[in-house]
Amino acid sequence: MTDEFTTDIYDDDDADVSTLDDETVAVLGYGSQGHAHALNLNESGVDVVVGLRETSSSRSAAEADGLAVTTPADAVAQATYVSVLVPDTVQPAVYENAIEPNLEVGDTLQFAHGLNIHYDQIEPPEDVDVTMVAPKSPGHLVRRNYENDEGTPGLLAIYRDTTGDAHERALAYAKAIGCTRAGVIETTFREEVESDLFGEQAVLCGGVTALVKHGYETLVDAGYSPEIAYFECLNELKLIVDLMYEGGNMGMWNSVSDTAEYGGLTRGERIVDESVRENMEEVLEEVQNGEFTREWILENQAGRPKYGQLREAEKNHEIEAVGERLRDLFAWAEEAEPEDAEVPA
Ligand code: NAD
Ligand code: MG
Ligand code: MG
Ligand code: MG
Ligand code: MG
Repeated sequence: MTDEFTTDIYDDDDADVSTLDDETVAVLGYGSQGHAHALNLNESGVDVVVGLRETSSSRSAAEADGLAVTTPADAVAQATYVSVLVPDTVQPAVYENAIEPNLEVGDTLQFAHGLNIHYDQIEPPEDVDVTMVAPKSPGHLVRRNYENDEGTPGLLAIYRDTTGDAHERALAYAKAIGCTRAGVIETTFREEVESDLFGEQAVLCGGVTALVKHGYETLVDAGYSPEIAYFECLNELKLIVDLMYEGGNMGMWNSVSDTAEYGGLTRGERIVDESVRENMEEVLEEVQNGEFTREWILENQAGRPKYGQLREAEKNHEIEAVGERLRDLFAWAEEAEPEDAEVPA
């Protein structure tokens, strides 16, 4: 553990997989995270049973990967440690039907995202440990890193510790899926959920696509060619983000021309100005007070009408057709592997 940061960061030396020697882990779901956790746990010597519906198309995949597969309810009954890796929107129903009736005193109920616990959509009994181990990466990378003897950074949070061992057990799980190889940061359910929702709404997914579309539209409306606008406002973004990923904002500023640096430093704050900051605070407040989550739950209950309309509009934006044409014409897109695209959870 290092002391230089405000948060605790755990590595392999802080965790012991043998803590889970007498446990059986039920991995519910075999999607992005589920397949990676189940396979990594299994290869780390942990007893794993995958819980999937009888009708699930993932069943054959999990069986072909050599894992024991049963129904979610039976998996929970067999297990002492339940890892909930079905989509967040179906977790409350899976909890009610398959998990809750089969939980026993002292079991661990674990999530990879804190949404349903933090917003009270799942209310586990008092005598069960409730934890979170959340790899900060899509499942395919969690799996590939493990296979390459590399780690995937992760978050760990304890919502409830009734056994007194919740922390040790969750760290053992984090080690078994390869997270402590890279480093595991201690957080809380609240911090993980609220920062995750805010980040994907304001900056990563919502903010960036809106910025790109506004830039593209500004150029095209002023008479510049759509192809040039696409390259300038969308395609080049990757090059800039790669530099930021490697060296932070300064790494990027140091790599671009002085003209780009001076222009960006003088104009950037005029584009993303104080009003954007106020909008961000409003969006954060809707996350904090539960307004966003209530809206999303109702949207799901209504069959996702608004979601459907917005996706359709996004699909029909001119920038999509331009990009498709350009990616067909040029070679760069072939290098990309879509499964590795960062998918904020
Ligand atoms: P996913 O959509 O990739 O996989 C879902 C799995 O659940 C599939 O195997 C599906 O068959 C199964 N499933 C769906 N409905 C079911 C039901 N009613 N009963 C039983 N099984 C059902 O999900 P994911 O992206 O791996 O997300 C799982 C959890 O991990 C979520 O809490 C998510 O927030 C979190 N998370 C995801 C990522 C990511 O990058 N994908 C990263 C960190 C955390
Ligand atoms: Mg059990
Ligand atoms: Mg340029
Ligand atoms: Mg995220
Ligand atoms: Mg998310």
